[in-house]
This record gives sequence, C-alpha cells and structure tokens, in this order.
Amino acid sequence: MSWLLRGASPYGEERTDLLIRDGVIAEMGAGLSARGAELVAADGLVALPGLVDLHTHLREPGREDAETVQTGARSAALGGFSAVHAMANTDPVADTAGVVEQVWRLGRETALVDVSPVGAVTVGLGGTQLAELGAMADSAARVRMFSDDGHCVCDPALMRRALEYVKAFGGVIAQHAEEHRLTEGAQMNEGIQSAQLGLTGWPAAAEEAIIARDVLLTGHVGSRLHVCHVSTTGSVELLRWAKDKGIDVTAEVTPHHLLLTDDLAATYDPVYKVNPPLRTAGDVAALRAGLADGTIDAVATDHAPHSVEDKECEWGAARPGMLGLQQALSVVILTMVESGRLDWRGVADRMSGRPARIGGLVRDGHGGDLVVGAPANIVLVDPAARIVVDPAELASRSRNTPYAGMQLPGRVVANFLRGAATVLDGKAQR
Ligand SMILES: [Zn+2]
Repeated sequence: MSWLLRGASPYGEERTDLLIRDGVIAEMGAGLSARGAELVAADGLVALPGLVDLHTHLREPGREDAETVQTGARSAALGGFSAVHAMANTDPVADTAGVVEQVWRLGRETALVDVSPVGAVTVGLGGTQLAELGAMADSAARVRMFSDDGHCVCDPALMRRALEYVKAFGGVIAQHAEEHRLTEGAQMNEGIQSAQLGLTGWPAAAEEAIIARDVLLTGHVGSRLHVCHVSTTGSVELLRWAKDKGIDVTAEVTPHHLLLTDDLAATYDPVYKVNPPLRTAGDVAALRAGLADGTIDAVATDHAPHSVEDKECEWGAARPGMLGLQQALSVVILTMVESGRLDWRGVADRMSGRPARIGGLVRDGHGGDLVVGAPANIVLVDPAARIVVDPAELASRSRNTPYAGMQLPGRVVANFLRGAATVLDGKAQR
C-alpha cells in the first residue's frame, strides 16, 4: 500500500508532499503524483518522525484488567508513538528471556507500535540478586534497557555490578531514583503543601541522593545510566554537573511533571497521586528549562494504568500512577512549543531521536529523520486543534488520566508504522 501525504509540513517547516511506498519514504517534494497511492490531505499538519516512549506500563502479563499490550499499543498509536518500552513490573516480572519474549511477541501481534520490553535488573524486582541480563539481551526481544522501575536498585554494590554487566552488550540501566528509607509512607511531595495537608512527604533529597550516587558509580565504571522520571530542580542540577564531567548519563521527564504541581493534592483526588510525586511550580520551571537545553534528554510518559478499585478510593490507599500515552504530545505542545521553549525539531529530538538512541531502537528504524529512504514511521499532527480530554474516550482500559476536562492543544490525525497506517482521521486502524 502506498500513501501520498499532500502538503504536510515536516517539523513545522516548508510544505511538501511525502510519498510512502514499500514501508519507506520513497519521495519528498512539491506536486508529487498520487498515482496508485491513497491520498491523505495534510495541509496545515506537522509531520514528525514516529514518537518513541522510554517508559510505559502495559500491565500484561498479570493485570489485564488495567491494560493489555493491545489497548496500551492503541493508546500509543493514537498518541503518535511508533515504539514503546514496556516496563518490567508485570506479573510474572519480566526478569527472564521467556517473559520478555512473550511481551515482545504480543507487541508484534498488535501491528500498532513496536513494543520493546525492559528487563528487570534484579530477580522479581527484589533488589538482591541480578536477573539474567545477558539472556534477555540475547533473546528475540534483544533487550538493551533494564530497570526495576517502581523500585530503586538501592544496593550500591548491586547497582555497580549491573552497570558493569550491561557494558558487554551496550545496555543501559534505567534507574527509578528513590531512597526508600526516606520515602516510607510518603503520599506526596514534602513541602509546604504536605505540611498543610498533614500528609507524609517524599523529599526531593530521596531522588537526588540516588542520582548523585549513580552518576558517580557510572563515571567510575565507565558505563551508561538513564534516570527515569526526574522531578526536582536539584536532579536537573546534578544531571547538568554529571554531563559537564563527561559521565554517560541520560534522563527523562514525564508530561505530568512538566505541567502539574503538588497543589493538586489539596483536592484529595487520587488521580493526582504518582511516584515520584507532583512537585512545586519551581521544580516544573526547572524541568522545562532542563528539557529545553537538553540536560533532560527525553519526554517519557510513565503511562501507568490502574483499575478503578486501585485508583478510585481514598488518597492513602490509592496506587500511584497516571495515564500518559494519548496526551503526552499535547502536553509537550502546551508546555514547550506554545511557550517557545522547543521548536518542532526539538520535539522530534526529545520524543523520537534521543529516546530511540537511549533505548537502542535505531537498529529497528526508529528515531531517524524524515528523509527519502527512511522507514516511514511518520505522525501527522494538527497543532491548531484543541481537544477537551474525556476519559471515557481514551483507548486505555483504565481511566486514571489527570487531564480529564482540560482543553489541550494538538491532535494526532494520522500515524504510520513502516508505511502501514495505524491511525487515520484520528482513529486507530486496529
Ligand atoms: Zn518509576
């Protein structure tokens, strides 16, 4: 099947036609012939390379009541993604070649996005014994990113061994930076709001202490570290320091940490409970600045679907986490593009190019530029559209979006994975 995208603006720049044939961008230029191709009217639409998410919870196997690979993949395609990294905290945990291959195969079957499993660093996420990292790397899933996300690899000797181990195959350890001894019973950010609400706080230092330790370890052993969902001003400063020193560290920020603040805890609506917690307006400003100047490499959703029983209860009992895949690009447009902090090339870099390189997915054709000969992983976005988020309309099996009722800019009109349409007219094709 061939497609002619008529009048699209790659990276929001000059209008052109793009001809997709045999899974690649076959031609680019004005006035291309549509002979034999399906026409897509793309006037006023920005064309970007397919987005890549470094941090998705798909919940399968184990919690298919909250999400499946299929419903998560549909959310991702509708959000403009062509690839997602599936976190390891499933049931069973993705800590063996067998489980990561199962998740990878389920992803292939969706034909909506490529699902790249993240392997657990430790057996059962238990934090005491290294998992079979090499076997997962050698499996059909070709795992390159490892994380105990949800838990921190707190034992420094074990973290060092993991960093050393993955060097052999160009892997990376993605750390959920949380000193658990400092966050026992924590419900929200530690600060003025937590004091007023009487909720136990999660201090910024619990994140920053682990990042400081890990960048030092990474520099010492000459390995590669990725820091998940950074949320504080101090974390950005530590990353800037480490990068200046030449330490091979990358980092991600979530859409919700770019937009929302800890004031929302005052609603006691558990939809705003997340780990790490929403922080202050000052932290939000530092995260936006860090993403703009490249200290923070990528936007990653931390899409965390939860069933109604786990989320629609009192704040203290609710599980932390929120949906992200379908609104991530809109939040980035709102916080970074419309404010002039990033142009569209910057968005492509932070949501496609860099995450693909960090996760090792360039080998599969993700994260490249929109040029003739490149794999046709292309998303068409209408930046002028504004949509009120309705949880009932989301593709996820769960409803825990923090953006319900908000009017957000940008609409994914079409999405192509290796030349196959996964979204057309804003509707998932599978
Ligand atoms: Zn996490």
